[in-house]
This record gives sequence, structure tokens and C-alpha cells, in this order.
Amino acid sequence: MSKQPVTVIGLGPMGQAMVSTFLEQGHAVTVWNRTPAKAEALVAKGAVLASTVSEALAANELIVLSLTDYDAVYAVLEQAPDALSGKVIANLSSDTPERAREAAKWAERHGAVHITGGVQVPPPMIGKPESSTYYSGPKDAFDKYESTLKVLTGADFRGEDPGLAAMYYQAQMTIFWTTMLSFYQMVALGQANGVSAKELLPYATMMTQMMPHFLELYAGHVDSGEYPGDVDRLAMGAASVDHILHTHKDAGISTALPAVVAEIFHKGMDAGFADNSFSSLIEVLKKPSA
Ligand code: NDP
Repeated sequence: MSKQPVTVIGLGPMGQAMVSTFLEQGHAVTVWNRTPAKAEALVAKGAVLASTVSEALAANELIVLSLTDYDAVYAVLEQAPDALSGKVIANLSSDTPERAREAAKWAERHGAVHITGGVQVPPPMIGKPESSTYYSGPKDAFDKYESTLKVLTGADFRGEDPGLAAMYYQAQMTIFWTTMLSFYQMVALGQANGVSAKELLPYATMMTQMMPHFLELYAGHVDSGEYPGDVDRLAMGAASVDHILHTHKDAGISTALPAVVAEIFHKGMDAGFADNSFSSLIEVLKKPSA
């Protein structure tokens, strides 16, 4: 079977990696980008540069979008709404689940099918078998293009709700950004005490490697709604995060992150969870006021 041709719109680092990978795997690729100069190296490799969005959409049924966010998606697609009919849009741009659901309806009104995607890896990992992307939306459209999308990364289809892929992506990025920020906070503390990031690295790594054990234990708590204080007590945790806050204050560095952590723990204490596990903080986090 001949390889499905594809249009890729958006040539930031991610879109460029995607186009290169499609070309390497023998797919015909049409590209469009607001800044056409970013297509030059890809055209040299065999991509066809469309001069308008309309031309890019007309070239193929499968349209992969790799744009900054959904504002950019509308800014591009509204240039050629009449060219959308019959297209399958694999929208690998990041945004919220709600915006993904709106975009699916918007696409449907224009006669197109919207598949939401959330790429889990950075551009150098595109084309690598261990990489993965969350997808959600109409299963039949996904099935039709699954093998082509799998040229980019593995495909983890999360369901027909178009918001789900975005939700999984944002959930994953919640862990990523807060973990990285915690690392930088750790480094700021180390540097204030004459210890470099390199010296701290093995200890940061050790702590992250212990995380799967904690995640598994506490996932059981939060799914069951029971927070036994047999291994840890929230009161102990609250004292610990206060020590952390004071350590960072004494070091003369930002306390913004430790302060918000301590605030959440104390909300749990105020809610009466002192003798429960700190997994009881899920009850605080489920409310919008936390
Ligand atoms: P960039 O923001 O660097 O580039 C995205 C593209 O969006 C560019 O082609 C840019 O065009 C275009 N764009 C932005 N605003 C507009 C607009 N108003 N009108 C037309 N075009 C616009 O993003 P990346 O390439 O890094 O990433 C693309 C998507 O992939 C993002 O949603 C990102 O969250 C997601 N992602 C990225 C990862 C990464 O590590 N880079 C990892 C996982 C997901 P122009 O060139 O003209 O500026």
C-alpha cells in the first residue's frame, strides 16, 4: 500500500521534526507556515511548500497541525474555512480540554473531523519508537490514519471525547513543570549554600526514582477515598513543609513555591485531616478555593 500523503501546518521545532520524519519514512508532505522561510530546509529535503493555507488544505485529506496553541489554529484555519470540508485534522497543538472540545465542534461545522493530539515528547524524540502521543476523537478517523500518525510517535488513543487527549497531556505536564520547578528551587537553595546543581543531581535523581513507589501507594488512597495515617500523618507533613519554607527563607531565596506548598498542607490541617495521611490533601485540591 502506498504511504498516505500528509499536510503539516506549523513549522516550529516540533513541526519541523515531524515533517523531516514523514519525509524520511517516504511520505509525500505539503507544508505551510506563517513564516515561510522556516520551510526552506524541509523543501530541500523534498517537502512541497504551499503558498496559501487554502492550497495546503487542498493538497491532502490528512492535515497535521503543530501550532503554538488553539488561537494560532483558528488564526490559520480561518484563512480558508471553505477548504476544510472533508479533511481530517490531527491537531497536535497544545491547549485545554475545553478548547479541544470546542475545536471539534468548530471543525464539524466546517465539514471536517478533528482528532485531538497531545505529543508527550520533545522534537528530538519524534520518530523514535519509545515516544508516544495521546489521541482522542472519532475512532474511525483515528483508525484510518493511525499508521501514518505512528510514523511520528506511538499512538495512545484515550477515547472519543475530544477533550481527553488534551486532559492527559495537561495532567502529564502538571507533573513535568512542577517537578522541574522543584528541581530549580532545590538548586537555588544549594547554590545559596555553595552547592552546585551537579553536586545535587544524584540526590534529586534518587528522589525521583523513589516516586513510583509513592505514586502507587497513594493512588490507592485517593481512588478509595480513604487516607489512613498508618505510614504518614498530615501533621508530620505540615511540620516538614514548614521546615522547608523556613530553610528557603533563611537562605534569602524565593519562598513562593515552598509557601504555596505549606499553604495547601495547612488547609488540610484546618479541614481536620491532621491524623490522616497527607494523601487527604486530595480533598483540598478537589475544591476550587485551594
Ligand atoms: P512553537 O511555538 O515554537 O511553533 C509553533 C508554530 O506556531 C510556528 O510555526 C508558528 O509560526 C506558529 N504560530 C504561532 N502563532 C501563530 C499565529 N497566530 N498564526 C500562525 N501561525 C502561528 O511551538 P513548537 O514547534 O515547539 O510546538 C508546537 C506544539 O507542540 C505546541 O502546541 C507545543 O505545546 C507542542 N509540544 C511541543 C513540545 C516541544 O518540546 N517543543 C513538546 C510537546 C508538545 P511562525 O513560525 O510563523 O512563528
